[in-house]
Amino acid sequence: MDFKQYVTVVEDFPKNGVRFKDITTLMENGEAYKEAIQQMINFAEDKQIDVIVGPEARGFVVGCPIAVAMGVGFVPVRKAGKLPREVLEVDYGLEYGKDSLNIHKGSIKPGQRVLITDDLLATGGTIEATIKMVEELGGVVAGIAFLIELSYLDGMDRLKDYNVFRLMAY
Ligand code: IMP
Repeated sequence: MDFKQYVTVVEDFPKNGVRFKDITTLMENGEAYKEAIQQMINFAEDKQIDVIVGPEARGFVVGCPIAVAMGVGFVPVRKAGKLPREVLEVDYGLEYGKDSLNIHKGSIKPGQRVLITDDLLATGGTIEATIKMVEELGGVVAGIAFLIELSYLDGMDRLKDYNVFRLMAY
């Protein structure tokens, strides 16, 4: 399947000069969404995954359906102030600014094998912070899956030590 035909490239969003990859048009198409998720499941299948971790909000869009299909749990990573219980917090740099991410303490058990999911790899800041949280909680990052890699931003360089899958590259 040519997945790129379902992604809309939006010029100058969220600011001038950025060519935003909008995956909501892929999600609107049931067949394309299902096939994209299936390809991520195929990547994860032989990795003995115990739990999936994804950053809000589009990490949920890809991670939750994979978790349900594989019969494993899903752990959300959220922006500061959103999770109700005790959290581990990590600062990170974004393509368009700076922020911090949180994960519930105890949500990953030491030694658990984790698949990290997100819609898109840009600079790699979001996923690097997510990896740091998973590893600090004692999890083992068994794989990382994206729909899209922006290869001109070199985010992949920060993930050299990991097994990474991406469906599309721009
Ligand atoms: P990074 O931390 O620089 O790798 O940025 C990745 C994060 O920013 C992901 O969680 C994406 O959802 C979001 N993001 C950055 N650029 C785009 C884009 O062009 N389309 C959709 N999301 C994007």
